[in-house]
Formats: sequence, C-alpha cells, structure tokens
Amino acid sequence: MLSPALESDLTRLAGQALVRPADTLAELQTLEAALPAAEQQAAALALARVRGLAEVCHGELAGLERLLAAQRASTAAPARLRFDLARTLAIAYAHTGLHDDSLEWARHALDLARQAQDPQAQAEALLSCGVAISRGGDAEQGLALYAQALEGFEALGLARLQLAVRNNMGINLKNLGRPAEALAQFEQALALAEAHGLHDSAALLRTNLAEPLAQLGRLNEARAVGEQAAAEHAGRSHPAGETTARIGLGLVLLECGEQERAAAQFERALALCTQTGDRLTLQRAHWQLSQLHKRAGRHQEALAHLEAAHEAERAQFNEDSDRRRRALQVQAELLAAQTDANQQRLRRLELERAHAELRSLHERLQAADREKTRLLARLAEESRTDALTGLANRRQFDERLTLEWPRSPGLQLALIDVDHFKQVNDRFGHALGDAVLQALAQPLREARADLALRLGGEEFGLLFLHGDRERALQACEALCERLRRQDWAALHPELHITVSIGLAGRAEMAAAPDLPAALYARADARLYAAKRAGRDRVVADDGQGSLAP
Ligand code: GH3
Ligand code: MG
Ligand code: MG
Repeated sequence: MLSPALESDLTRLAGQALVRPADTLAELQTLEAALPAAEQQAAALALARVRGLAEVCHGELAGLERLLAAQRASTAAPARLRFDLARTLAIAYAHTGLHDDSLEWARHALDLARQAQDPQAQAEALLSCGVAISRGGDAEQGLALYAQALEGFEALGLARLQLAVRNNMGINLKNLGRPAEALAQFEQALALAEAHGLHDSAALLRTNLAEPLAQLGRLNEARAVGEQAAAEHAGRSHPAGETTARIGLGLVLLECGEQERAAAQFERALALCTQTGDRLTLQRAHWQLSQLHKRAGRHQEALAHLEAAHEAERAQFNEDSDRRRRALQVQAELLAAQTDANQQRLRRLELERAHAELRSLHERLQAADREKTRLLARLAEESRTDALTGLANRRQFDERLTLEWPRSPGLQLALIDVDHFKQVNDRFGHALGDAVLQALAQPLREARADLALRLGGEEFGLLFLHGDRERALQACEALCERLRRQDWAALHPELHITVSIGLAGRAEMAAAPDLPAALYARADARLYAAKRAGRDRVVADDGQGSLAP
C-alpha cells in the first residue's frame, strides 16, 4: 500500500504530465530521491506509470517501453493500479498518434473497470475509448462514447471530468458541422467551470466557444468571448492556451472585417508559439498572415509567411511520422523479447502492415510536399513578373542589377516611355491602352537585351550586361523604328505608337558615383531629354538634350 501523501502526489503529477511533462519529470526526480528505499520498491509500478506518461508527453519514447514493462509486471498489483496502467497506455498511444493501439488499451481498461465494478473507472475508460475513436476519425461514434462517459461522471458528481467530456463533445460536434449543438456543450462546460472556480478550464472553453458563435453569425458575442479568453490566458504563465485563443480571436476579427486587428492577433500568436515551439499554431498563424498580406497586395510578405507555414508543416510532419515510427519500433523490439513464437509472428505481420501503411502515407505526403514546393516556386516567380505583360518587374530588375553590378563593367540601361500614352487611353479607352502595353512585350523581348522589363505604368526598360555602347544604341534605335512602323490596325485603325528612350552606360560614368542609382538617374534624365527633343527617339549622351524644339 502507498502512503496517502504519495498517492495524492502521484495523482496530481499524472494530471500535470500531459500539460507540463518537463516540470513533472523534474518533480518526480525530487520526489523519488526523498522516498525511503522500501517505499520506492512498493511504489515502483505507480512511479513508472507517471514517469512513463511524462516521458512520452515529453517526446521520449523510452516512456512507452517503461509503461509496457510496468503493465506486464502488474499482474499481481491492485485492480486500480492495473486499470491506471492500461488507461495510461491508451493515453500514451493516443499521444504518439497510434489510435488503434490506444483504443485497444482503452478497451482493456474498460474490461478491468467492469470486472472491478468501479463506476468512475468505467466512465474514465469510456472517455479514453471516445478520444481514441474520435482521433481515429469517427466523430459520430466518439460522441456516443462521450455521452456514456458523461452519464457516469454526472451520476458521480465529478465536475472536472464532466466538463472535460462536454468540451470533447463540443469539439466533435464542431467537426461534424453542428455549431449550435457544439455551442450548447461548450456553454454547459463553461457553466461547470465557473461554478467550481476552474479558471484555466474556463479560459479554454471561452476559446472554444468563439468559433461556433462566429459560425452561427453571432459575431459580437464571438468577439467578446474571444477577447476575454485571450486576456485570461495572457495573465497565465503557459502561453499555449493564449496562442490558440489569439488565433481564434483573429479569425473572428477577420469575419468582422477588421483586418489590421486580426493581423495583430496572428502576429502575437506567432511571437508566442516561436517561444513554445508549437508548430501547428505557428503554421496557422503564418498561413493567416500570408492570406492577409496577399489580400493587401503585399506579395513579398505573403510569400515569406507562406514559406514559413510550409516549413513548419514539413517539420511537424517529419516529427510526427518519426515519432510514430519509433513507437512501432519500440513495440517490435518488445515483441522480439517475448517467447510465444506464434503470437510473435502474427504481431510481426501486423507491424509490417502498419509499417507499409506508414511508408505509403509518407510517400503520399512527400508527393504533396513536392507539389507545394512547385507551387511556391511558381508564386515566387510570379512575384518577380509583371502580371500584364509577363515581362520582368521592378523587383526582378533590382535583384538582377544588384547581382550583375560587380561583374558587369559594360552594363547599360535603356529607360523607355510610351509617348502621349494618356491620349491613347483618353481616345481609345483604358482597355485598349492595356492591350497596347501587352503588345509591347514582344518587340521588347526581341530587342536583344539581357533583360526586358516593365517598370510600371507605360514605362519599360532594357538591361544590357555586356557589349558596347554602339550595339545597345542600335538595339534601341531598332526598337523605335520597329514600333514606328508597326501595324496597330488589329487594335484600332487610327492607333499609332511611338516611344522615347534614354540610354546610359556604366563605362561613361567616370565622375559620377559608381552606383546603380546613378546609372538609372542618368538614363532617366536622357529619357526626358528625348521627350523634350520631340519624342520618338533615343538619347544616348548629354549633348542631345539641348536640341529641344
Ligand atoms: P509623355 O509622352 O510625356 O510620356 O506623355 P504620357 O501621356 O505618356 O505621359 P504621362 O506620364 O502623363 O501619362 C502616362 C499615362 O499612362 C497616365 C495613365 O493614365 C497611363 N497608364 C499608366 N499605367 C497604365 C496601365 O497600366 N494601363 C493603361 N491603360 N494606362 C496606364
Ligand atoms: Mg510616363
Ligand atoms: Mg508616357
């Protein structure tokens, strides 16, 4: 028999192991060191149960081995301890994502509870069965099991367990697309939490309430409850609840059309989960921020957040599948040590099947991952391309110029502006103006430059990396000539398009600072000189500007 003090310490630590495994392991260490040898011996299995659970929750799969070994050694232990071990195994397997094994242990725990005729243990085992079934994907059957567990806890007047079950029921109902019923469960659970002063649970339930309220169109209430949840969590030392609350609140604010406030919530959640290492929330926060930036036209930021979300997802997937694989490994090793050869062979086959399934899952996810990488690459390319003409955009031009500057002493830049383009729009309409800009892409591409770009509006550019001034000048003259002669009748019989071009080379900038901006300014000044001199021409030195009519 354990002393009542040790018994109550272990019950408390087992509850805490799920949320704060590292602290729990440290406290167990201290507790164990202080126990007399005889008591340590007597409490070995009970201690192994809590330690194993905390280890699994802390990501150490040796904990699973510890739990299985304790379970095997428990044949002569008191019924309650045997039950606790079976149920703890159900929880530990659920944590590693092996829901079938979790269910098997939960069922075993239920058998033990029924044999012992212990109503609380029965309700607890039903709750574990419900969790395993729900996480395995069957929300409907999960609900039925939760309802049975709830009945048991209600008969026993166990408020904390009642509210845990109602919270799980709310989550299943929400996942089944039944927000009104989900809301009712969360509200009843919240009432219980408040009546019993369970503040952490109340804050969690408010977080969960916000989503169904929003789904039911009760945005003001959703917002108020979300704000309260975030504030309550913010006052506590464990940021995990706060991140979830802030994401939820952000989503509600989005529904309310308050983009900036929503962004602030996502940013805050992001900062918090960078601390906690909670990748799932990290991924959600990055994803939402990427959507927000995208909508605001901030493509660079949108892309950065999308990439970060993708990275977090990939890391989480690797960690999950690694953990599952290691859990399967632990089982395989344990089996190898067992004697019943026949049983072992069957179980081996089962494990091989599980391995094969996991491998195929892994392959499918990797394929999805490749697809996503391809999409990201396309997005990255799009963010460097002008949408109307398909030419390089200003960003690509800046990147290229920075890259080439140190290694291209012969670099030359032509800035090109369509003449009297405002009149084109005014006479023929903006849509036709757009069509002209699109049609300009082809001759620009064929101008034999290293990069053809649209700077914006009706302004374009050509970048020549090597070669001499004469060649670049010829290319620009040829472009003017080609456009001057081009037949625009397909767009409008009276349409006529010319351009003015300012050309400047790096080689002629002896006195000016040797910087891209100086070259750009020089080409720009010559473009304006070309305009002043009557348009439809190239200006490639500083003398010509004075020839204005
Ligand atoms: P200039 O010969 O002096 O360059 O005369 P301009 O009329 O071309 O000069 P300005 O810069 O005053 O006008 C440019 C016009 O280009 C103004 C704007 O209506 C039009 N514009 C800018 N971007 C676009 C666009 O994407 N599509 C269309 N259709 N028009 C545009
Ligand atoms: Mg212009
Ligand atoms: Mg113009």
